[in-house]
Amino acid sequence: MSIEAGTLYIVATPIGNLGDISARALEVLQRVDRIAAEDTRHSASLLRHFHIDTPMFALHEHNERQKAEQVLGYLQQGESVALISDAGTPLISDPGYFLVRQAHASGIKVVPLPGPSALIAALSASGLATDRFCFEGFLPAKSGPRRRALEALSAEPRTLAFYETPHRIEESLKDMAAILGEARPATLARELTKTFETIRHATLGELAEWVADDANQRKGEFVVLVEGAPAKENEGLDGETQRIARMLAEELSIKQAAALAAKISGEKKNAIYNYLLSVLR
Ligand code: SAM
Repeated sequence: MSIEAGTLYIVATPIGNLGDISARALEVLQRVDRIAAEDTRHSASLLRHFHIDTPMFALHEHNERQKAEQVLGYLQQGESVALISDAGTPLISDPGYFLVRQAHASGIKVVPLPGPSALIAALSASGLATDRFCFEGFLPAKSGPRRRALEALSAEPRTLAFYETPHRIEESLKDMAAILGEARPATLARELTKTFETIRHATLGELAEWVADDANQRKGEFVVLVEGAPAKENEGLDGETQRIARMLAEELSIKQAAALAAKISGEKKNAIYNYLLSVLR
């Protein structure tokens, strides 16, 4: 393949198993003028493993805005730049959004190199519906905001996907079971593509108990997937109507919010009222 001058390449890298890097990713990383990496020390070992010595600089969440200007400068001078993150697909709960927006605004060509992402790997093996899903990234770190975020999602009919860290997985699963329901089917995907890869499909209540009882199940990296709410809980309301109703309910009584949301959306007032009761209970 040819490397195009003045092009920004978004390159996915492995989420654990180095064998998952694509031939195209290796070629691009070898041949671009520069690599922008989330953590240069972390990526140095990946590049060393594949005998790649392309110059690298750091672009992370704390310097992205300032570095984006520099990267655009390189690109405008005709250099090619590859963006990588510590693992998986850049921009998916990782830096790069600002840079890619700026690149489009400046008329720079952006080329994605698809590859590993923990979200898609977990979803594909989850046994849950994959035709539609709702990726929420990381839930809030503190229980109060986390529970409120889960309440807002409790009637969401699509499969829910969350990233989670080892020090929060136990508490998060407990909150999910409490808010979304102990009996809600879910899948916990831990250490995907690595030695201790574990994928368990059970109910939220069972997963919360299992992780609380076994410290080994709290080690590593996690994706939590949760089956969407059964249709009756949201009375078949579409996502936009649900969103409007929830927003109105923040300012008005449930009854008033349901009446106004019904006028806006054309949906039945009762259906919206019942929906609001189910998510705000
Ligand atoms: N950009 C990455 C991607 O495409 O998956 C995600 C980066 S985000 C900062 C890191 C989170 O992704 C971890 O906390 C975990 O929730 C999830 N993750 C990354 N690698 C994983 C793995 N091997 N197994 C399970 N989850 C993983």
